[in-house]
Amino acid sequence: MKYIPVIGLEIHSQLKTNTKIFCGYANKFGAEQNTQTCPVCAGFPGVLPVLNEKAVEYCIKAGLALNCEIAEFSKFDRKNYFYPDLPKAYQISQYDKPICGKGYVEVIVNGEKKKIGITRIHLEEDAGKLVHSSDAFTMATNSFADYNRCGTPLIEIVSEPDMHSADDAYAYLQAVKHILEYIEVSDCNMEEGSLRCDANVSVMPEGSKVFGTKTELKNMNSFKAVKAAIEAEIKRQINELENGGKIIQETRLWDEASGQTRPMRSKEEAQDYKYFPESDLVELEISKDYVEKLKNELPELPYSRMLRFINDYSLPEVDAEVLVAEKAVADYFENAVKIFNQPKKIANWIMTELMKLLNEKKVAITNCKISPKQLAEMLQMIEKNVINGKIAKQIFPEMFETGKSAELIVKEKGLIQITDTAEIEKIVEETLAQNPEIVNQIKSGKDKAKGFLIGQIMKTTRGKANPNIVNEILAKKIENI
Ligand code: ADP
Ligand code: MG
Repeated sequence: MKYIPVIGLEIHSQLKTNTKIFCGYANKFGAEQNTQTCPVCAGFPGVLPVLNEKAVEYCIKAGLALNCEIAEFSKFDRKNYFYPDLPKAYQISQYDKPICGKGYVEVIVNGEKKKIGITRIHLEEDAGKLVHSSDAFTMATNSFADYNRCGTPLIEIVSEPDMHSADDAYAYLQAVKHILEYIEVSDCNMEEGSLRCDANVSVMPEGSKVFGTKTELKNMNSFKAVKAAIEAEIKRQINELENGGKIIQETRLWDEASGQTRPMRSKEEAQDYKYFPESDLVELEISKDYVEKLKNELPELPYSRMLRFINDYSLPEVDAEVLVAEKAVADYFENAVKIFNQPKKIANWIMTELMKLLNEKKVAITNCKISPKQLAEMLQMIEKNVINGKIAKQIFPEMFETGKSAELIVKEKGLIQITDTAEIEKIVEETLAQNPEIVNQIKSGKDKAKGFLIGQIMKTTRGKANPNIVNEILAKKIENI
């Protein structure tokens, strides 16, 4: 039987406000344990929360960027559970009146356009972090609580069960990440935990109108892990059903090492949390004017920017997708195009040579020493036959390291292209004279041997000969032998 997977994601994203959501303490990642807490976020009795307006602003911006309805009235609720990472024994969250309602995200999965629905986005506080360690010598196991993270503003973005493959989920998660980065409300770093994702997965027989029982997957801390976990879980569920088994509604943990999911706990229900209104905070009233003002502050978002790149610059969809993923890369591209209006050539250089160096040297494009203008000018030099593409590739790493312009490096190193036909002709003739046996091979039909001669010529000229002229002259000379 064929099964259709059904997937819904719950994405948690920490907001990069200066201070925490209900107190004035710094919202900072990576500080020494338990140094970033105050009586409010550490949950001392008798303290009162004060809502950080910036967190509300960021939540609304996220909602607008994800095409959500923004509520006029919203409120906070207490979600009660007892666990050492939560000093108050309740989390201030939102239950029935979240700030953002229904929305959607547009994605492209393997070339196909899809629209993934969003159910809601609510604002809440993060809990602390438990660090588990075990002592190999005494075999004692210890858990330590770090409360620095308590009170970090968090949004939870709940999707509709609109995804049907691990690829869909991956594309959706990427799209949400890029959008949150564009609007600068979150760092979205999965390794540091500022972006976290739980995946709900079920399968149903093809043609069925009823969803199967779902499991919730946790503990994936990279995009790759999310994809792998969903794939493994779909396989496990199909296998279970094919063998006459049943799917139990439960929370399962992704185990990176074994590449499998395993049961963690039975799934809790809303009533287990005994939600009730947070009486220490007043209801939120969100005016239309305020929402309008925030809407006007949003930048152009990745999806529309991608469509515009395809349209305005005649770029292939894949190129546009890669370029818009990071706002700074897209800006870099557009700045270069303003100077040298050959979008595809600029896109190629950014996506290959530049990205390779940025990755290798772990440099952010915003700190790149090659300015968009310098890249554009280098490509202009190729266009004008001052240098050839090979020389450009050769000097590019030096431009990257030193921030020198191509023009300067070329001058310093004497790398200006040889376009003088007489000079090239002379070198071609010499090369042919030195390699009679290769010439014979070419003459007897082994055209590939030409490559060797071209290599020799380029070596003699230190790569400076104009390759088109070399090819032309070489062909002519061989013909006349
Ligand atoms: P719960 O009450 O268990 O938290 P929700 O209805 O709130 O369930 O949904 C949580 C997430 O699970 C949402 O992202 C939703 O899209 C997804 N979801 C709901 N039903 C299914 C299903 N049958 N299969 C896969 N995902 C589902
Ligand atoms: Mg739920």
